[in-house]
Amino acid sequence: MKHVYFFGAGKADGAGEMKDLLGGKGAGLAEMTRIGLPVPAGFTITTEACDYYFKHGRKYPKELRAEVHKAVARLEKLTGKKLGGEKDPLLVSVRSGSARSMPGMMETILNLGLNEKSVQGIAKVTNNERFAYDAFRRFVQMYSSVVIGLPKEELEARLRAMKNYLGVKDDTEVTAQGWRQLVGEYKAYFKQKTGKDFPEDPEEQLWGAIGAVFESWMGEKAVTYRRVEKITGLLGTAVNVVQMVYGNTGDNSGTGVCFTRDPSTGEKTFFGDFLLNAQGEDVVAGIRTPMHLKELHKLMPKVYQQLERVRTTLEKHYRDMQDMEFTVENGILYMLQTRTGKRSPAAAFQMAVDMANEKLIKVEEALERIKAEDIERLFYPVLDPSVSRADLAKRKLGSGINAVPGAAVGKVVFTAEEAEQWAGRGEKVVLVRRETSPEDVGGMYVAQGILTATGGKTSHAAVVARGWGKCCIVGAEKLQIDSEAKKITVDGRVVREGDWITLDGGDGTVYTGEIALSRPQPPKAYETLMKWADKVRRLKVRTNADTPHDSKVAREMGAQGIGLCRTEHMFFKDFEHPEKSVERQQAIQEMILADAPEARRKALAKLLPFQRRDFIGIFQAMDGLPVTIRLIDPPLHEFVPHDPAKQAELAHKIGISAEAVARRVEQLHEANPMLGHRGCRLSITYPEILEMQVRAIIEAAIDCQKRGIKVLPEIMHPLTLDKKELKILEEATRRVASEVISESKVKLEYMVGTMIELPRAALLADQIAEVAEFFSFGTNDLTQTTMGLSRDDAGRFLPVYVDEHKAAVFPADPFQTIDVPGVGMLVKWAIERGRSTRPKLKIGICGEHGGDAESVKFFHNAGMDYVSASPFRVPIARLAAAQAVIEEKRNRKGKKAKKSK
Ligand code: PEP
Ligand code: MG
Repeated sequence: MKHVYFFGAGKADGAGEMKDLLGGKGAGLAEMTRIGLPVPAGFTITTEACDYYFKHGRKYPKELRAEVHKAVARLEKLTGKKLGGEKDPLLVSVRSGSARSMPGMMETILNLGLNEKSVQGIAKVTNNERFAYDAFRRFVQMYSSVVIGLPKEELEARLRAMKNYLGVKDDTEVTAQGWRQLVGEYKAYFKQKTGKDFPEDPEEQLWGAIGAVFESWMGEKAVTYRRVEKITGLLGTAVNVVQMVYGNTGDNSGTGVCFTRDPSTGEKTFFGDFLLNAQGEDVVAGIRTPMHLKELHKLMPKVYQQLERVRTTLEKHYRDMQDMEFTVENGILYMLQTRTGKRSPAAAFQMAVDMANEKLIKVEEALERIKAEDIERLFYPVLDPSVSRADLAKRKLGSGINAVPGAAVGKVVFTAEEAEQWAGRGEKVVLVRRETSPEDVGGMYVAQGILTATGGKTSHAAVVARGWGKCCIVGAEKLQIDSEAKKITVDGRVVREGDWITLDGGDGTVYTGEIALSRPQPPKAYETLMKWADKVRRLKVRTNADTPHDSKVAREMGAQGIGLCRTEHMFFKDFEHPEKSVERQQAIQEMILADAPEARRKALAKLLPFQRRDFIGIFQAMDGLPVTIRLIDPPLHEFVPHDPAKQAELAHKIGISAEAVARRVEQLHEANPMLGHRGCRLSITYPEILEMQVRAIIEAAIDCQKRGIKVLPEIMHPLTLDKKELKILEEATRRVASEVISESKVKLEYMVGTMIELPRAALLADQIAEVAEFFSFGTNDLTQTTMGLSRDDAGRFLPVYVDEHKAAVFPADPFQTIDVPGVGMLVKWAIERGRSTRPKLKIGICGEHGGDAESVKFFHNAGMDYVSASPFRVPIARLAAAQAVIEEKRNRKGKKAKKSK
């Protein structure tokens, strides 16, 4: 097996599509070399070698040594330089790079190959002794901390002490002599700690570095990042050994990071940062605040033009926005990396639509470029426009670079650990740091927003936060952030730990206090892309809504009807007149406490007008679209008070004794309410509830119809487990509906159907479909009852069940993403059996899975007619349904191609 892939002088063993084997960086370097871009030569050790290393007790594959040796010799031949040589020596960088980008989470060693001899060689060829020793001390410093694990702070302390001794502030002021002395001190420290001399042999250095890069794959920060980002199934990291080029040889050199389009807005402009006379890590680390790429245009017009050409070539080649790293060494441009760039959700829409319009990609590809879940992030908050300018001006604390848009409000914390602790207690926090480093990812993830004093738009904080669509401001240099004293000082004002601040990532402003936020209108590109999705998909998308307001919102989000209106939600809240809620609460409680049918009917009669009015509101909002209304579902004890004081209050209001209330509540107690007297069992035992609800629905429908509003009510019975049971309910439903319809003398179409929420109902779906005109899968309960896991309690142990480093029993939370092998099997069975007796059976799903992209694809493939999701997740379902069609087409094509072979 081949473990080493060489690239250089226009030829490469690897290629762009070999990301799994060569990592993103290795594949990018190979591909850029192939297409003739200026890339320094080097080689990539595969991720398979890394996998082998960990699977074999940290041993390298047998052939690796010889392969690396050969690759080094080839590199030496190609460059005409020798690793560790005395004259014009070859120096290399050794970098990590896995198939998925993990910014800054793994290790890098630069300037490898330097030793007491080769440093002289470098000094001679560059005619710059200072530069040579600066490179040497960087190497010894990196090697000592990364490969050997000596504490960074100890090494930094020596650097600081040396600068103090020389009486200088900046690294740039340190002389050759100063750096040489520091190298000596580092080496002495190395010997003191390890008992060995610092390795002079470049081969030993190289193997140390290769091992350290492999090890960093299992380092704590990398493991945490993969967990947070849900990155699984990778072999490991590749190791890229590349000839060093220098951005810090003077003012004709520099280093930068750039994007082929703006990653925040998606606009087609060349976007990036550049640092003059600096090494690559300085940009990413955010230690110095860089200049905009436009400045490079002025400083080095030729290099800029060449970079522009590279931008066009790479975007055309990869057909996607690229994020590139480059270095200019003495006026010569070198490309060090290209990868598909991370982008904000809004930018993802903009780029997908623009690229389809530019014919760079097809409409189908544009649809697949958006992660359906990312849509939610489009609706991220902004400062509420109602907040006055004067108020904002008063609260303005300072400003920085608007790295990631959106707004965030939270209490200030100064360390990542505190962020995690505070968020763990349910507090909203904003993480404030001088700069962030990969160790901070846990805290960054839980924070509402991130604020740093240094760095540019491509610094660590910005790149990581952008990936999450999290509000982030960097380079707020005027804010004096003192993490030790836990305070921010600016112009005499002080903000302490625990104080509220608000960030506006849109323009980079920091405000004191807790400012109201609101959700924005989605960008235009969003509308365009969603229209494309609607044209492609077959699955309809409805919404779960219980109020006219939610129904309206859902329609704006593209809902094509209501798939679930939970009537019991209306029992407790009057959404139109909240102050009147108590009237309906009392009526339902009176009904529950009644011990005879007559008394129950009387109480229900009071509830009827409320329900009717609510239904009218919903029918109006949906204006002719189908509306599925589910009859009462939860166990009755949920509607009555359990503490004695509240029971006494209720008793007083409805004119019965407190003991009677307490007794009835006691009677309602069940050991297992979820498997008890709930769902349609309530309507079987208390048919008067069904009668009232059906009457309210039909009367509301007739009222609307009379006023010219089209209505399509679908009356749904929950938790059915038998055909006979459903038959009783269906007959009662039709009897009441017919009565009301014939009284009104209008013609009204309506349907009667059931939820499928129990394994028995799914198994006997053929019989149930003889009565039901439609099925709606209640996958929340169906998951609960199929798996025997309580939907209200499983949160305690499910995290262990889904964690790939713990039990890893399930790939995902089954209450979030449908359990295809188990619950999914029942769903498929029920659809097939149901349609066997009623071919035109209408089938949908209204559990939470209706808003989960992966589950939506499964429901599409299972042959459902629609999914129903909460209003803000309707767009996710629309896009996922379109993506399902595209995947289906691709699979069909794949199968055909296989057959014809
Ligand atoms: C379900 O069980 O999936 C469902 C939609 O009903 P509810 O969540 O109200 O029990
Ligand atoms: Mg249910």
